Amino acid sequence: MDQLVKEALEGEFRVNMHDADSIRRGLISYMVRVVGHDPRSAGTRQWFMALAHMIKGILSERGMGTSRAQYGQDTRRIYYLSMEFLTGRRLMKHLVDFGLTDTVREALESLGQDLDTVAEEEPDPALGNGGLGRLAACFLDSMATHQYPGHGYGIRYEFGMFSQTIEDGQQVEHPDNWLRRGNPWEFVRHSVAYPVRFHGRIVCFRDEQGRERCEWVDTQDINAVASDLKITGYDSPIISNLRLWTARATNDFDLRFFNEGNYIEAVKDKTTSETLSKVLYPMDSTVLGQELRLKQEYFFVSASLQDIIARYLRVHSDMSTLHKKIAIQLNDTHPALAVPEMMRLLVDVHGLDWDKAWHVTRETFCYTNHTLLPEALETWPIGMLEHVLPRHLEIIYLINHDHLQQVRFRFPGEMDVLRRMSLVDEETQRIRMAHLAIVGSKRVNGVAALHTRLLREKVFPEFDEMYPGKFVNVTNGVTQRRWLLQCNPELGALISQAIGEAWKTDLMALRDLEPMAEDAAFRERFNAIKLANKERLGAHIAGQTGLVVDPASMFDVQVKRIHEYKRQLLNVLHVVHRYVLLREGRVTAPVPRTVIIGGKAAPGYYLAKQIIRLINDVALTINNDRSVSDLLKVVFLPNYNVSSAEITIPGANLSEQISTAGTEASGTGNMKFALNGALTIGTLDGANIEIKEEVGDDNIFIFGLTTEQVMETKRRGYNPWRVIEGNPDLKRVVDMITSGFFNPQQVNRYHAIGETLFERGDQYMVLADFAAYVEAQNRVDELFQDPDAWARKAILNVARMGTFSSDRSIHTYARDIWGVEPMDLTATL
Ligand SMILES: *Cc1c(COP(=O)(O)O)cnc(C)c1O
Repeated sequence: MDQLVKEALEGEFRVNMHDADSIRRGLISYMVRVVGHDPRSAGTRQWFMALAHMIKGILSERGMGTSRAQYGQDTRRIYYLSMEFLTGRRLMKHLVDFGLTDTVREALESLGQDLDTVAEEEPDPALGNGGLGRLAACFLDSMATHQYPGHGYGIRYEFGMFSQTIEDGQQVEHPDNWLRRGNPWEFVRHSVAYPVRFHGRIVCFRDEQGRERCEWVDTQDINAVASDLKITGYDSPIISNLRLWTARATNDFDLRFFNEGNYIEAVKDKTTSETLSKVLYPMDSTVLGQELRLKQEYFFVSASLQDIIARYLRVHSDMSTLHKKIAIQLNDTHPALAVPEMMRLLVDVHGLDWDKAWHVTRETFCYTNHTLLPEALETWPIGMLEHVLPRHLEIIYLINHDHLQQVRFRFPGEMDVLRRMSLVDEETQRIRMAHLAIVGSKRVNGVAALHTRLLREKVFPEFDEMYPGKFVNVTNGVTQRRWLLQCNPELGALISQAIGEAWKTDLMALRDLEPMAEDAAFRERFNAIKLANKERLGAHIAGQTGLVVDPASMFDVQVKRIHEYKRQLLNVLHVVHRYVLLREGRVTAPVPRTVIIGGKAAPGYYLAKQIIRLINDVALTINNDRSVSDLLKVVFLPNYNVSSAEITIPGANLSEQISTAGTEASGTGNMKFALNGALTIGTLDGANIEIKEEVGDDNIFIFGLTTEQVMETKRRGYNPWRVIEGNPDLKRVVDMITSGFFNPQQVNRYHAIGETLFERGDQYMVLADFAAYVEAQNRVDELFQDPDAWARKAILNVARMGTFSSDRSIHTYARDIWGVEPMDLTATL
């Protein structure tokens, strides 16, 4: 090593990334010059930092090229505004994208380091709750890969999604201090900072031309400071940017208090203002109407729009043509304040007249709706908006005035329609953010065919009627680069060997794999890879929980946020039912199963936390019952996140997608599992329907009520008591849970679960779907006993997943929503 270090430090700093020896010298040099550590005593952590900084150098070099080329071509830019980005770890992603995995592995080996171990040093940046944040990350990858000029904007939360442990069977939340040891990937742009204003009051006057102008004065200001993360695409010359904002106290704000007398007070105010980007709200599919959240939303929206406009003004001067050069996608309504903020900037700051500004605004924004659940539709109290954002409330009223005028014209005399379509809910005195986003956007999209249909027919029928063609569907997708190539490299290699590499950027190419289902040798290799992935998952489970599971058993997996609508409870009912049958010897040819459930519950969501506890109580009983030990195991896998998904999904045989029909907008977990060769058991909900259409009815286990049947059943008066009285097996299972069979030390522990199923009327139809679910699970068992038949179907699933690439989603957005073409930078760079 002494000699190595000496040589490396004598050499040039420039690294030839296609030569392992040069990389090794580069790593030593980065270790000394950037990390500041002696290579002779460096540990895994330091090697990770040296490697990350080396890669960061390449990102920066290539990023400058992209940036110059974009300005050169003056292409229309896409800005993706999202409160959440779940990007997953960066290191392996960049290595895969640059095609450097093997050479870097070799270089590290020559330094006595293992790449996979080094990669484990990176914290998973958990700046999101679940599907919505992960979708944003998949979209950035697809845009960069296919050379679309797309950039992300979000918040650099100091604490991301909490990390979850299970103590005494219950979820315990721990702060996610992911920046504790620094973040080697970010470029902090101290000079890119914008003031974001709050509170204050409005002063209106007539300007020289006699036009009414309004000014927002006496505000409390906070600075938004930019940090950039570079986004690479697969084998792509494009480097895009994800700009995340941090809240910093402004000097002005400090100085007002800053004198000897109240020095401590001044610093205290400084810290309060900086809480804006402190922590991610850990809630998925529900909203909490807190002022801090409203401020977070406005904070990132205002900073992003100021930045977007500043960039536009570097090359253009006419604000009335802004929409020709930019498109802004709103990921759910969290950034919907961008609509009044854009109006404020155009009218109050840049002096456009109202009508022109409104035209520009509506041609700029597009809005993606992510949910039909009423508890997830954002509304803000008028009083709170008046206090925090008085000018924006006025602008919303003005928008609503014009909007209602048109509604009256379109639906004359229909007062009900007028009430329903207003941006203001008069009854609760709240502003409806989805309405605001719809009115302020050029296009509104749902995220799966069923979801978009329900949006148009059930949630916003009058809007759909008033704006024909505004509502469109773009079914979600996942990037095959992370969710196959990176997380399941063996399967990726097998596929490439069979059909070539095209699938990596054109997933429809997987179709060529179909004939391989009939190839016995291929099936054998496919099964061997699945088994190896199950062993890897088994080792992960043992490491996380201490439980030993059998990789030969069927791995039955449900990992996703814990929510009543996703029906983890239905899964548990089936597990308990199976346990009863096994104990009573009522199963003739039992199939050994390992049921794996994972996911986080929102900290204030009592019932979701009870479900986690129930899973753990049931697991404890079953796993300690020797009479079923070879046949049934239950695992609660703690701290589900992108990194654990990357291990869990490739190891699944069965994918549980069992939400109540009409509640899951799309789902993307469903796509990841099928792409990795799991078979789906699922309801006709979200994208499951489209998955079924693609893979064929014979290659998926569909069960349960349809959306129409759910609505019809509820309309006729659904009675959970009647269901249970007609099904003694179900009654037995529910009785065991609610009478404390799994928790004799506290028999009424699951009182609330009994209550939701009966007194509260089983909103999510768990009992109604139980019998059909059990029947479908029996079909699953039967097929699993024929490994060849199972493998055929699993291979066909993989072969038919082409359409569920986020590349397809992004091409659709580009064509139908943004009207942009990919850039061709290959020649320029
Ligand atoms: C894909 C993904 C999700 C979304 O899963 P669904 O099953 O669609 O709810 C949530 N969390 C993580 C970490 C994911 O990777």
